[in-house]
Amino acid sequence: MAQLVCPECYGKKSSNQINIECKTNVELHGIIRCLECQHEIPITMHKGFIQSLDLALPGTQSKFLNSSVPADIKEDIEEAERANYSQCYKACVAMCRRALQLSLIDKGIEDKPLGKMLEEATSSGLLGAKIYALATSIKGYGDIGVHRREKIDPEEARLVIYTTVRMLNELFIS
Ligand SMILES: [Zn+2]
Repeated sequence: MAQLVCPECYGKKSSNQINIECKTNVELHGIIRCLECQHEIPITMHKGFIQSLDLALPGTQSKFLNSSVPADIKEDIEEAERANYSQCYKACVAMCRRALQLSLIDKGIEDKPLGKMLEEATSSGLLGAKIYALATSIKGYGDIGVHRREKIDPEEARLVIYTTVRMLNELFIS
């Protein structure tokens, strides 16, 4: 049995000891969520011994989103990060593409093929040159994730998350 405390809220609240058991001939690869503060800790155990333990999910960009970004769009970015951690890179960029599309709908652009939405958002003045460039790159990677049989590598997936968070913060100024 492994015992640990949440690295995020330990010290701030009464320490909440987490016991993890994985004794038999199994490997456990997953994410522990602290129910006190919702912090997530990736863990791998093998026959009862911890193989790897990180303080937080890698590339946690979603926490840098402005507070005015709608909750469901923030959830898409969190899901993209979870997909990235699970090595599901196409799913990751597809979620970022979805966040981009939902953000345009939220800003009043009618739901239609994303390319058309981007054109409309540019001609209406919603997207300046900088956000348009970010959005086009997210769409490009997202299209690979959704439509084409090409590979996305881990660095690209991380970059797309980062770019999507920057774009959303430009669109939803806090
Ligand atoms: Zn915690």
